[in-house]
Amino acid sequence: MTDRPLTLMAVHAHPDDEATGTGGVLARYAAEGVRTVLVTCTDGGCGDGPGGAKPGDPGHDPAAVAAMRRKELEASCEVLRISDLEMLDYADSGMIGWPSNDAPGSFWNTPVEEGAARLAELIEHYRPDVVVTYDENGFYGHPDHIQAHRITMAALEMTALTPKVYWTTMPRSMMQRFGETMREFQEDMPEPDPAEAAAMAEIGLPDDQITTWVDTTAFSDQKFDALAAHASQGENIFFLRMGKERFGELMGTETFVRVKDATGSAVPEVPETDLFAGLR
Ligand SMILES: [Zn+2]
Repeated sequence: MTDRPLTLMAVHAHPDDEATGTGGVLARYAAEGVRTVLVTCTDGGCGDGPGGAKPGDPGHDPAAVAAMRRKELEASCEVLRISDLEMLDYADSGMIGWPSNDAPGSFWNTPVEEGAARLAELIEHYRPDVVVTYDENGFYGHPDHIQAHRITMAALEMTALTPKVYWTTMPRSMMQRFGETMREFQEDMPEPDPAEAAAMAEIGLPDDQITTWVDTTAFSDQKFDALAAHASQGENIFFLRMGKERFGELMGTETFVRVKDATGSAVPEVPETDLFAGLR
């Protein structure tokens, strides 16, 4: 044993992903004295600009959007008590098929080994006990999320360290409740076309394939406030409209799939409830 604090590293694609996917565990483990390191891979420059302007619209300046989102990210980190923020500062690649996918400096256009080598240096520096990122589909198919997954898994191969590794996920039961709540709070939401509905049905996992359910109910106000720090981004407005109480009911558990575990503890019969199980 060492006197080094337990360390959690979360690798995310854009400013705001830390709040949506892992705001609960980041806040909870920080409160428990764990060092929390957030690596944000892109600058978020393809996000919404002032007044909801989209990339390519007049009034959308990616550099200005990135600067605004950096401030929002710093505010979110403060709310979640994140110990260390590391930005890789690749250009946001935008949604699949956008011209920004192939722009010089875009994350999607960066060779995996290059991004992985930079992340491996951070892993060697912080020596995390637990690393969290997305699954191979980036949870919902965004190129930067897929690339964050790829560089994380490659970086882990480049170091001799063996942290527990988790991918964020959502149980299908929760996805269903989520969809119902979305329709409740966005009455003008169009019905998805069949292809979109089929793609949505593939997101997340059957409940019995989820290895780890972490109760973050006590931290859902912090998670809500972290998302509120990213209020410039249209997709976060839906969460904020819900109000803290409904948000806590819907988002009070964060779920993961454990993909690497060198703790030597037997795979539990019942799902884990702690990312650090076997480490303390
Ligand atoms: Zn994202």
